Amino acid sequence: MLIDGEWVSATDNCWFDSYEPGTGEVWARVAAATEVDVDRAVRAADRAMHSGPWSKMTASERGEALGRLGELVGRHATVLAEAETRDTGKLIRETAGSVAYVPAFYRYYGGLADKIQGHTLPSDKPGIEIFTYREPIGVVAAIVPWNSPQMLLAVKLAPALAAGNAVVIKPSEHGSVPILELGKLVEQAGIPPGVVNIVTGHGHPVGHELTKHPLVRRVAFTGGPETARTIVRNSAENFASLSLELGGKSPQIVFPDADLDSAVNGIIGGIFGASGQSCVAGSRLYAQREIYDDLIERLVDRTKSIRLGSPLDPDSEMGPLATTEQLQRFDSFVSATPAEGGRVLVGGQRPTKPSEGWFVEPTILETHAEGIRAQSDEIFGPVLAVTTFDNEAEAIKKANASQYGLAAGVWTSAADRAHRLIRSLSAGIVWVNTYRATSPVAPFGGLRDSGGGRESGADAVYDYTSVKTAWINSSNQAVSDPFKVQ
Ligand code: NDP
Repeated sequence: MLIDGEWVSATDNCWFDSYEPGTGEVWARVAAATEVDVDRAVRAADRAMHSGPWSKMTASERGEALGRLGELVGRHATVLAEAETRDTGKLIRETAGSVAYVPAFYRYYGGLADKIQGHTLPSDKPGIEIFTYREPIGVVAAIVPWNSPQMLLAVKLAPALAAGNAVVIKPSEHGSVPILELGKLVEQAGIPPGVVNIVTGHGHPVGHELTKHPLVRRVAFTGGPETARTIVRNSAENFASLSLELGGKSPQIVFPDADLDSAVNGIIGGIFGASGQSCVAGSRLYAQREIYDDLIERLVDRTKSIRLGSPLDPDSEMGPLATTEQLQRFDSFVSATPAEGGRVLVGGQRPTKPSEGWFVEPTILETHAEGIRAQSDEIFGPVLAVTTFDNEAEAIKKANASQYGLAAGVWTSAADRAHRLIRSLSAGIVWVNTYRATSPVAPFGGLRDSGGGRESGADAVYDYTSVKTAWINSSNQAVSDPFKVQ
């Protein structure tokens, strides 16, 4: 682990095994931090923020350090992508692509570091000037899941450092190795010891102790709703501000005027990319009745031809699931569907090839009936639930009938309809004739059970600051005795 600039093992020298989902075998041993380690990391971060060289660096210097970190990530992209693929089972073609894009996030927030400004306010009191500073908020706890460790860390770490904070990162136990690899680059980037700390281990005790630590001022979390509830409760201990990015059950809506070839590609990529283990997976499909049969036939054909294979093989099109819990989750949803009134159109099984590793088939379920769980609940796997609609109003109603509200996809060639749908869909992100695109410039986050707060985009950097208001009496008037009536 990385604590206060030193590579250390846990104080009680405990370790846990990390499995390679592509083989189902142990491939790394990772330190299991204790409560004492978490406390040391948080205190190191607090010191680094308030008295170390980081606190004396100008915003421009911090921005330059972030730029260098991005450059180093780019230079070490192969190692970082391979570590992510082996630890999480995500395809090398996907991790190589996402890691190659990560430097853009460090550059973007590096560029913003010296543009974080307060305001001079239009004072309503003659002779009194009022203005605001934006100061670093304090120690940030970054809780990172396994499904895209480098990217989901960058959207937290980059704005936190740009604003002058220090960070304690808790990676998932299923995705620690790539984050530890990134830790090796931090010092080379000229970021002083203690500014970035990494504590590895299980949600309990590591994440739990970290999120309720009294010196933690902000928690940036990506993961599941149950963990998020615990974190919200923990925030009652330290009143840390929170960003919660929790996943969804995002609808894709296809109208008859859409370019169906393009829609098929967007739908397939949207649900089977990352083996469906993506918070924005487009896992509900609504197709207008006139084109339903045609679209489903194309989707089923393409799904049958998806090449499952080792995540390290650049020719593989879909890899394994990341954990054995994910396998059980897939099985339980798919096997329940026929009894609930649905039908398996393709997939639904564990494949015979590859014979090792945690693979499942890409799956499409027809879910016309009400109350099918695969239609309403997030599976976090390669399972698409499909059904029809008859008109635009019905499409909107069905798409919005969810406790989640992260993303939505619309496929249409009509500009007026695109605008209506963007306004009517209850989601944090709406993609029209594209899907799953992300960018450092674009806010990302959801509504309701998909969480709150936004990552990425210029405004996110302000979430890592607190406002200080300054009042100056610049008149020549002394303050009068408060108890003497004028
Ligand atoms: P979790 O919410 O358990 O894990 C996310 C992160 O939180 C991990 O780093 C985890 O560590 C950590 N964590 C676990 N418990 C605590 C705690 N008490 N306090 C602080 N941190 C904690 O997600 P899972 O991996 O179990 O996945 C469950 C479901 O969550 C998925 O099926 C999916 O629905 C959703 N999910 C959504 C993601 C997204 O991108 N929005 C990403 C991952 C999951 P550790 O892994 O070591 O337990």
